[in-house]
Amino acid sequence: MTFSELNLIQPLLDSLNKSGYKTPSPIQQKAIPLILSGSDVMAAAQTGTGKTAGFSLPILQKLSEGKKPSPNSARCLILAPTRELAEQVHQSVQKYASDLSLKSQVVYGGVKINPQMLKLRKGADVLVATPGRLLDLMEKNAVNFKDLEFLVLDEADRMLDMGFLPSIKRILAKLPKKRQTLLFSATFSESIKKLSQQFLNNPVLIETERTNATATTVKQWIHPVDKKQKAALLSYLIEENRWHQLLVFVRTRRGANRLSLALEKRGIKASSIHGGKSQNARNRALAEFKSGKVQALVATDVAARGLDIDQMPVVVNYDLPNVAEDYVHRIGRTGRAGEKGSAISLVSADEVDDLRAIQDLIRKQLERIIIDDFEPHHVVPETELKGEKKKKPHKKKLAKAKLKQSGKKSGGSQDKGSQPKRGKNGYKGRSANKGKTAKKKLSKKKPTSKSANKIWDKKS
Ligand code: AMP
Repeated sequence: MTFSELNLIQPLLDSLNKSGYKTPSPIQQKAIPLILSGSDVMAAAQTGTGKTAGFSLPILQKLSEGKKPSPNSARCLILAPTRELAEQVHQSVQKYASDLSLKSQVVYGGVKINPQMLKLRKGADVLVATPGRLLDLMEKNAVNFKDLEFLVLDEADRMLDMGFLPSIKRILAKLPKKRQTLLFSATFSESIKKLSQQFLNNPVLIETERTNATATTVKQWIHPVDKKQKAALLSYLIEENRWHQLLVFVRTRRGANRLSLALEKRGIKASSIHGGKSQNARNRALAEFKSGKVQALVATDVAARGLDIDQMPVVVNYDLPNVAEDYVHRIGRTGRAGEKGSAISLVSADEVDDLRAIQDLIRKQLERIIIDDFEPHHVVPETELKGEKKKKPHKKKLAKAKLKQSGKKSGGSQDKGSQPKRGKNGYKGRSANKGKTAKKKLSKKKPTSKSANKIWDKKS
């Protein structure tokens, strides 16, 4: 399938051509015709699937056919959970609309409000906003929605996780009822479904992948390790694998600062990005990371949301998130747009419950690889997927089976082959790595990346 088969207008096709997009991604193939036809849409789409273009392109097309916005009003409102995501969505909108005469603006907190108020005076065809700052602007009468035609709730699950539901409800109460509403979410919880029932009008549901699924192009595994050894193991992995650019997730702001200092001490150029830093400091850290000045960007979940870094080869979970869905979001930073990527988690024994929750969510048991010299003293207990525990056979049945088997084979222990192999420190290796320590498994090569187009070309 091509973009022109989706009935997109020439200026949009030209900008897609300039961006090097050849084939619409699965979410784009489904969402674009529906949005063009005027339906409300509720889409389950992970990050990296091309969802931004999926909603922006048809909206821009429809906006280009209508009237100009009146002063201080917006024709399309896109709500996003974080400043970084808002900025990124805005940049995408600008890119796709480069050949159309449409105005777009972005507003978020952490920077001065006055310049944003000034910019809004002329009105905007597209306004991308985070909920808190938008409410401030609405209270100051800097923006109104009397001309609103489209509302997009981007990464809706994340907005709810971040406690934005009351703000979203306050904003939505001020919007005209007659509008087209689109809701995008990586995960579909009950509260998301409730939100859609309340604010969407007979939405068409789009699901391109299983909800909560992780991208198939991302290779995932864990390194069991003692907590105290994590910084040393991470530095070792960075050097051993010659990772030039990696995103490292930690749970807390303090943890982010501490780890970035620890890496710097070990000669690895690192920087941190978290909610405790000013927007300017966050932008600077991101720019330095993108330009290659900084090798490891240590981020908290909130700050990392919305970071779009092309061809991010490696994501490391230095701490496992305690909300399992965050794991899906975190590793969505690699393998974006069909690229290949690696998602590696350093897991200590006290994180076993988080590991279990993650594996149950993604319905996948993560391969365990122990690195020589970093064998944990506190063993990470075994984890099995919920509902996949092998049932212990009934005693009578077991006796019968044994009798049957001893009739077939003489002597020997029939169960031997099914016993898990144990490696060092009681580590139970899965059959995939047969309990071996992993040094051999870790390739020094950087993961190669196929172009996104090629991947999507193949699919379509
Ligand atoms: P998103 O999921 O919207 O954050 O998009 C992820 C990445 O895919 C962004 O870097 C986009 O520029 C890129 N992208 C979106 N659509 C396409 C496409 N059809 N072909 C190639 N790349 C795309």
